[in-house]
Amino acid sequence: MNVSLPSRINTSIRMNVAKRKLESRKIYLQNGNPLEQWGLVKIKNDIKNSKELKALFGQKEPDREDIKQYKLIKFRELLSYVLENSPYYKDLYENTGIDPSMIRSYEDLEMLPLTEQEELANKPYHFLCVSRKNIAREFTSSGTTNMLKRMAYTQDELLEIVDSVISGLKMAGMDSRNDTLQIMYPTITATWDPGLVLSKACALSGFNSVINDSLDAHDQINTMRESGTTFIIGTSSFLYELSKQARELIKPGELGIKRIICSSEPLTETMREEIESVWGCKTLRQWGMTELGLANAIECEHQDGFHLNNPDFLVEVIDPKTGKILPAGEKGELVVTTLRRKCMPLIRYRTRDITSIIDEPCSCGACVDQRISDIERWTGN
Ligand SMILES: [Zn+2]
Repeated sequence: MNVSLPSRINTSIRMNVAKRKLESRKIYLQNGNPLEQWGLVKIKNDIKNSKELKALFGQKEPDREDIKQYKLIKFRELLSYVLENSPYYKDLYENTGIDPSMIRSYEDLEMLPLTEQEELANKPYHFLCVSRKNIAREFTSSGTTNMLKRMAYTQDELLEIVDSVISGLKMAGMDSRNDTLQIMYPTITATWDPGLVLSKACALSGFNSVINDSLDAHDQINTMRESGTTFIIGTSSFLYELSKQARELIKPGELGIKRIICSSEPLTETMREEIESVWGCKTLRQWGMTELGLANAIECEHQDGFHLNNPDFLVEVIDPKTGKILPAGEKGELVVTTLRRKCMPLIRYRTRDITSIIDEPCSCGACVDQRISDIERWTGN
């Protein structure tokens, strides 16, 4: 198909505008943990642009406690926003007497009802806070609970997702000049395609990428050789099966793979050991949900919990039966508030995933982020 000149110019301008907005482009591997650094740049930009935040934090480097306070302020802002704009939350909070100024501490969050996945599945457009003409893309996914959930995003939100994906890849060790990411999602049947999101992120950041959706191990290995693949991402079950077949075809380390990222499904330690022994490199878990923006958390090379896209989310862990907020270190259901979304923000959204909050520094040098421990599925029993 011929692409007309004006359309090519438009695409090129759009790409350049998009690149300028990406904070991840300013983050480099040597500056500590790239995902945390990316989050801090976003938080500092917010502080610079808000009188309330500037008065509270001034010019100093935000520490762990400052960031918790920052998130509560963003939470109150979001609460005001949904009370104005979200038909769902206006209904939910009606007659509760909820006022954003009542949320002064993390314990106060318990005053707000949780958002159930069924509500989002049954009436997605009740969550919509912007006019439909501002929607750039919708994603639908059943996730792991067999409920179709539709989420809409504005153009700026899509860019923020791409930005977080790039920061996560940088944290995994990708270097734009020397590395190629091979993207393998042959078993994903959702209406959104993680491969396309990833290849777009790579194109915008200057990383090399290649998509191969073949189920055949020979075919995948040929692509690795031809493309000089150094990083691999795909679903956990597929990468585990591929690794078992590859054991018969290659010797560990032969292809020079540096990192493997397993996403979309749980990865047991036994599966991880098998994959690492075949390819001779570290294997990292990645966690995300369509309704939260796809790429939400990833392990660093120390494999000690998931680093979150910190400024995007306020996370809580609750007792799934009583709804009580649990302290860091105790296992319960992960509940997430999307602090920066304007299109379809979610407040206290129940993920049904079981984990705990790790509220201490990581060996990789990330010292202000909260992390979450390995995810277990919530069965509802
Ligand atoms: Zn770390």
